[in-house]
Amino acid sequence: MAFKTQKTFYITTAIPYVNAEPHLGFGLELVQADVVARHRRLIGDDVRFVTGTDENALKNFLAARERGMEPMDLIERNAAAFRELREVLDLSWDDFIRTTEPRHIRGAKKFWQACDPGDIYKRSYRGIYCPGCEEFKTEKDLADGCCPEHPHTKLEAVEEENYFFRLSKYQDAIEDLIASGRLEIIPETRRHEILSFVRQGLQDFSISRSSARSHGFGIPVPGDSSQVQYVWFDALTNYINALGYADDAEPFRRYWRDGDMVLHVIGKGIARFHAVHWPAMLLSAGLPLPKKIFVHGYITVEGQKISKTLGNIIVPKEIAGEYGTDALRYYLLREIPAFEDGDFSEQKLVERYNGDLANGLGNLVARVATLGERVSPIPLVEVSLREDIRAATRETREAVRSATDSFRFNEALADIWRLIGVADRFVNETKPWAIEDEAELRVVLANACAVVVAVADLIEPYLPGTTGRIRAQISLKDGEVIVKRGEGLFPRRA
Ligand SMILES: [Zn+2]
Repeated sequence: MAFKTQKTFYITTAIPYVNAEPHLGFGLELVQADVVARHRRLIGDDVRFVTGTDENALKNFLAARERGMEPMDLIERNAAAFRELREVLDLSWDDFIRTTEPRHIRGAKKFWQACDPGDIYKRSYRGIYCPGCEEFKTEKDLADGCCPEHPHTKLEAVEEENYFFRLSKYQDAIEDLIASGRLEIIPETRRHEILSFVRQGLQDFSISRSSARSHGFGIPVPGDSSQVQYVWFDALTNYINALGYADDAEPFRRYWRDGDMVLHVIGKGIARFHAVHWPAMLLSAGLPLPKKIFVHGYITVEGQKISKTLGNIIVPKEIAGEYGTDALRYYLLREIPAFEDGDFSEQKLVERYNGDLANGLGNLVARVATLGERVSPIPLVEVSLREDIRAATRETREAVRSATDSFRFNEALADIWRLIGVADRFVNETKPWAIEDEAELRVVLANACAVVVAVADLIEPYLPGTTGRIRAQISLKDGEVIVKRGEGLFPRRA
């Protein structure tokens, strides 16, 4: 075996249904995961970042029928819109899995068969079913008799023969896993919610549906053609199928079986599936468990929940087209608190854009580039930097590293913008435009450039495109800063 020098870091997002085009909420999740993936790559980890689409859901079929479309046509169209987010949001995923791909279907079948046979049993089930969630609900899940996720969807009373998974058997194991922190759930509030849910007692859950009621959608249950796998059973296995679980492929062994870190990034609505069902399923199949689950909140638009009914769906492509990819990334990461719900409004986006990007970062880079070009290249010797500048830069690096490691993206950006403020004040105080002595000017600009170079490094996981554009104007090479003034980074918006 070769000596392993790099730690592996496997990071996934949820795989959304493709019954509609991607909205801003999933854009948030992708951008957050992308920051973590880029951050870990810069640290030197062997990163694998995977996203994808859940295409076996009955919901997709129902959405197509509503539009008078062939299901696969709708799925192809929307799956393409999801893949397009890679360019729209400048994402760095390594792989994109669709659950209609053979690698997923074979993996989902293999996983079913790998589960302890005593854990899967058939019984008649009668329950309240939310077609929106494709999930049976218990009374305590409901709010005013409705699904909290789908208050406008009519709930159905359903009775059918299904396979069940013996989740109750894993009560102690799951409780211990979460309580001990071996499965870390972030933030703490979500960990508490999950733990108290587990402590109420875990109940076996249905993991199949009748093939007839699924309109042929879904992955067949091995050995029983009358049943297809419940979409949430097969969908979770995408995380290992993307790595080649079906064939015990090298990426599966490297990132999952023998991996150092497995992190799932998800929204709060599906935390139970990931923190309770999935670990129990993996235990049953004798496979290693994920180590961390990061749960983000939801985005409201102008204070209201995003919904088709309200017609307030924000399409990431339109916002990015209007304001730029990094302006949208910045808003999502800075304005939406990573652990809670946050709000999107175009007015706030314009305020953030003008205040932080145009007047803040953009203005600093333009000033330093204009002044610096006259005396470029500027030797950058650490000892010639002012102590307060050095200290502020060093402290910001540490704070940003720690905030990013713990998913406090908004705090990391606030820290970086404080450093931008330090540089602004430094330029205002030292007034380089009034300095006539060239040697003195070089020292002052070395300080200003050092901060800009540090800022470009620090924002790289967050605003990768902007980092590239700053480095095209101000960059450090062989101990010298090369300055070449370019176009403004963020032209002011009216
Ligand atoms: Zn629902």
